[in-house]
Amino acid sequence: MAEMNAAYCPRDPETETNLRCGRCEELICPNCLIHTEVGSRCPDCAQIRTLPMFEASSGELGKAAAAGFGTAIVVGIASGFILGVFNLSLGGVVAVGGAGWLIGEVVHRASGYKQSRPLQWIAGLATLLAFIIVTPFEPLGTLIGLIIGSYYAIQRVKPPRGVQ
Ligand SMILES: [Zn+2]
Ligand SMILES: [Zn+2]
Repeated sequence: MAEMNAAYCPRDPETETNLRCGRCEELICPNCLIHTEVGSRCPDCAQIRTLPMFEASSGELGKAAAAGFGTAIVVGIASGFILGVFNLSLGGVVAVGGAGWLIGEVVHRASGYKQSRPLQWIAGLATLLAFIIVTPFEPLGTLIGLIIGSYYAIQRVKPPRGVQ
């Protein structure tokens, strides 16, 4: 006798299962599920392939994060130092705006020229880190720099509309 609440695979009605497709959340079982790079999928969803340039692997995301945050720290400290020494008013616009532009570039390259939403997060957060580092040296311009820089950084790795 089956337990109460036991769920059965819609494709294999004999098979009890609690596995679900990672994309559409339909029930799947070990007989019909398909392993993909992004987890277990039902046969329908396994056919929908995302173009590889819009799907960065975890290794590529790791490289992109290392490059993006590394750039934020190096550029942040260097430009903070320059702004501190030369006392350039509104230099933070250029410092953080430029850091964002550079971060978008290095994140894009380090990921193997991918464009995806997780990369947008990495680019945006790395620009935020540059902002946090530079702000104590020049508080006036960095907020404008953050707006400009994070826009550039996030746009650089933005997937086109319709890409899931
Ligand atoms: Zn599915
Ligand atoms: Zn099944």
